[in-house]
Amino acid sequence: MEQTLAIIKPDAVERNLVGKILGRIEKAGLKIVALKMVQLSKGEAKGFYNVHREQPFFDSLTDFMSSGPIVVAVLQGERAIEHWRKIMGATDPAKADPDTLREAFGLSIEKNSVHGSDSPQSAAYEIPYFFSHLELVNP
Ligand code: UDP
Ligand code: MG
Repeated sequence: MEQTLAIIKPDAVERNLVGKILGRIEKAGLKIVALKMVQLSKGEAKGFYNVHREQPFFDSLTDFMSSGPIVVAVLQGERAIEHWRKIMGATDPAKADPDTLREAFGLSIEKNSVHGSDSPQSAAYEIPYFFSHLELVNP
């Protein structure tokens, strides 16, 4: 069993897509083992995306990610990291496969509606960034 961090980004929360996206997660058979809504400060968004600090999109991305509430979740399942990234689709919604969340809901390469950890190493950084072990359940 593997765990991954999922985020429903501000563009999707703002458009009332939380239920649809959580429904898609459940339909895919991934287990939600932690869940909450928060709004990041600019500094907290920079800490979360620290790996991208040298990227040209870093300032705009961290402005966007702190612009409104987000829903953060820990998903659990077999190969959960890869499974969730497949459901999300490619970073750029214009290049995302049909039936992926980013293809369905993404507005732009930045406002692409959802986040998912990309490796066990990133999940190990991202999950405790939002959740204490007391907030994770064992389904
Ligand atoms: N992003 C952006 N411009 C880019 C690439 C990425 O604004 O050219 C944003 C986008 O919101 C993306 C996030 O930065 O989801 C993190 O980028 P990454 O390459 O890690 O993509 P992801 O893992 O989210 O598919
Ligand atoms: Mg990434």
